[in-house]
Amino acid sequence: MNSTATGPEIVTVAETVRPTRPNPKIERETHKLEKRLCRQVGQAIIDFNMIEKGDRVMVCVSGGKDSFGLLDILLKLQQRAPVHFDIIAVNLDQKQPGFPAHILPEYLAKLGIEYHIETQDTYSIVKQKVPEGKTMCSLCSRLRRGILYGVADRLKITKIALGHHRDDMLHTFFLNMFFAGKLKGMPPKLVSDDGGHIVIRPLAYVAEKDLTAWAAHRQFPIIPCSLCGSQENLQRQEIKRMVHAWERQYPGRTETMFTALQNVVPSHLMDATRYDFKGIKITGVADANGDTAFDAQDLPSPTLPGVGVVTL
Ligand code: SF4
Repeated sequence: MNSTATGPEIVTVAETVRPTRPNPKIERETHKLEKRLCRQVGQAIIDFNMIEKGDRVMVCVSGGKDSFGLLDILLKLQQRAPVHFDIIAVNLDQKQPGFPAHILPEYLAKLGIEYHIETQDTYSIVKQKVPEGKTMCSLCSRLRRGILYGVADRLKITKIALGHHRDDMLHTFFLNMFFAGKLKGMPPKLVSDDGGHIVIRPLAYVAEKDLTAWAAHRQFPIIPCSLCGSQENLQRQEIKRMVHAWERQYPGRTETMFTALQNVVPSHLMDATRYDFKGIKITGVADANGDTAFDAQDLPSPTLPGVGVVTL
């Protein structure tokens, strides 16, 4: 740097930047977060038998924080898994205007893993078929699903992994209850609608806020999801707002509700196809839990913080 004897000393930005010192508290938190993510994903894989020896797992990477997180954690678990399985990252470039097509290939190539980019212009089809002002998501997702199943066939994939997390599953449950009159959520594992694939959701136990924090820590090159110009479904937005408001007012409620999805009691609901109400007969044996038919159940106060119900 040059300076004159009389003028003010010019200091370049580079000289003012001091190396940031590691912050032990942040490091500890990040370490805990990583352990939690690995534990929760590992537990979901075990609980639902998601991945087996010899599987070829196609991880669908959209460029959002959730799918980046899914790939990242699965790669970590692959290193320590007792059985061998392959991971193949797949991205579908739907030719949305402004989609930065170089980001994912560059990122995946740097990881040194097997990957495939499928390019198919579903954007034009959707634009053409859906009237202006209507939401394009349902046709778009249907087309995307079909294409991904085709890719899975070509790549001899045995499991298709999606990046939906705990909050997505809960929101879907409420969407179905409020707008479709069904007690139906988003399953952690299912057979695809074409009957030919097994779809898994290894982030089933993971909270969205943890994925957000992990994405920030890992500095994933996130691709914005609003490129297509379509609005997120308004009903889903409403449900999200409702669940967030509950969580603010009653901390822990989200976890409690999520636990409820894993504790279904068909005999205490009203679906005669799930429980044989017509065929009920007296047993002559007293229920050890008391008179559950008439007594109100003791429930914890809603103002108490939720217990750590997702015990992994
Ligand atoms: S937001 Fe856009 S890309 Fe995503 S499903 Fe809807 S239409 Fe498709």
